[in-house]
Amino acid sequence: MDGGLSRSNSFTDSASTSSFLGKKYVCRCGLDAVLRTSLTYQNMGRRFWGCPKFEVGKVGKAGNACDFFHFLDGDEVIEGRARDLLLRLKDKQIRLEKEIQSYKEENENLMAEKAKLLQENADLMSENGKFLQENGDLKVQCEAFVKNIKGLEKKVKRSEKICVRALISCQIFCVVCIVCLLVSVFIGLHRLH
Ligand SMILES: [Zn+2]
Repeated sequence: MDGGLSRSNSFTDSASTSSFLGKKYVCRCGLDAVLRTSLTYQNMGRRFWGCPKFEVGKVGKAGNACDFFHFLDGDEVIEGRARDLLLRLKDKQIRLEKEIQSYKEENENLMAEKAKLLQENADLMSENGKFLQENGDLKVQCEAFVKNIKGLEKKVKRSEKICVRALISCQIFCVVCIVCLLVSVFIGLHRLH
């Protein structure tokens, strides 16, 4: 590395491919290098050719980028208040990107939770459908039982009527028998006299 550019501190704006300025650099990965702008304290504002795999906004050896870079000739380092402002903006952007990342993760978690709840809801709906089916079957069985009971009640009433008639017939028969017996006894006694 030259010029004090440290990858861990490098921060860049949008990249341009090397063909943009009519030059052609190839990084250690064998890819066309891209032109970026350094936002480090030492090299603020200087443009350099770097690996296209480097992920903008990520500090450290993010991704699989190689450490190739080559400063573009003619760029001067920005100093003074402009540098301070750019550094503050850089920090702010990093902070915002971290926030975005955390929101993304939160969103993913919420989506996963939503999918779980939807699945649970689908299971409950299916269970509910099963219960409704069982309820329908039980209703049909209940109606059949009620019909049977009504039939049996009719039979019982018919049997009761038959029993009452038989009882009355028996009573009449008994009365007739007693009368006959009394008449026979009376006739027998009359003959003896
Ligand atoms: Zn590379």
